[in-house]
Amino acid sequence: MRFSRAMRAGVVVTALALAVTACGGSNNSSTGGNTGTTSGAAGAGSALVAKAKTGKLTIGIKFDQPGLGLKTPDGKYTGFDVEVGKYVAKQLGVEESGITWKEAQSAERENLIKKGEVDMIIATYSITDKRKNDVSFAGPYFVAHQDLLVRADNTDITGPESLNNNKKLCSVKGSTPAQNVKDKYAKGVQLQEFGKYSDCLTPLTNGSLDAMTTDDIILAGYAAQQAGKLKLVGKGFSDEKYGIGLKKDDKEAQAAINKAIQQMQSSGEWKKALESTVGPSGYKIPDPPAITEL
Ligand code: GLU
Repeated sequence: MRFSRAMRAGVVVTALALAVTACGGSNNSSTGGNTGTTSGAAGAGSALVAKAKTGKLTIGIKFDQPGLGLKTPDGKYTGFDVEVGKYVAKQLGVEESGITWKEAQSAERENLIKKGEVDMIIATYSITDKRKNDVSFAGPYFVAHQDLLVRADNTDITGPESLNNNKKLCSVKGSTPAQNVKDKYAKGVQLQEFGKYSDCLTPLTNGSLDAMTTDDIILAGYAAQQAGKLKLVGKGFSDEKYGIGLKKDDKEAQAAINKAIQQMQSSGEWKKALESTVGPSGYKIPDPPAITEL
């Protein structure tokens, strides 16, 4: 009896979810459709849309995350976040030559947006309620999962709980992953937080740290770079929904960017971009997520 009621409830929830999705989709495309060509009053409201009309945009990315946001020694920018930035900018009327890429370390992201030093942030930036007090997001355009990176010969770290007993864990200031481990899984862990993830790599490979934690897609890029020295534990223990960070309440930019993300996904460019940037690390490319920040 209880079982069948639960099953019926499940059907209702599924039907509701479908209705909400369908509704969100059509709302979004109609809002997005208007936004692309909006001029006048609504257009004047968005500093980002106004700036894009001048053919220029400043985009905050990571500079040290292979496959996602990387500044190469010859001054080029590569990675999936860079490809998303180029695609979105183009949809807003800005060519690649009009983009200024600016480094956005994890702890600086809200500030860079609030101070107007960047027009948007595309930097493995998880959508969280806390961050939404300061900024707004478009997307999500990708969902990653928190994981652990350890030395290839390590056998005793099999998940976040095994970091108890004073294991030394590295992560980055202003990011969600380290605190998540400490709060939810391993009170007895010794946490060290640096400014950026690449700072964790030398201490991890030379043995002064036991593990580092952040999103699996970031860790996969480092593991591939370190050729056989490091491995992912492979227990995704959170959902990290990557959004494009914007000035708080810039609805016009949010709608225009959501439309661009949707187009990137449906045209196949999203998958193509992931395959060429993240693919070489061996990371399994998932399906694109539905847009929820409306
Ligand atoms: N996605 C997580 C965050 O936004 C971790 C990755 C990062 O710090 O960029 O905090």
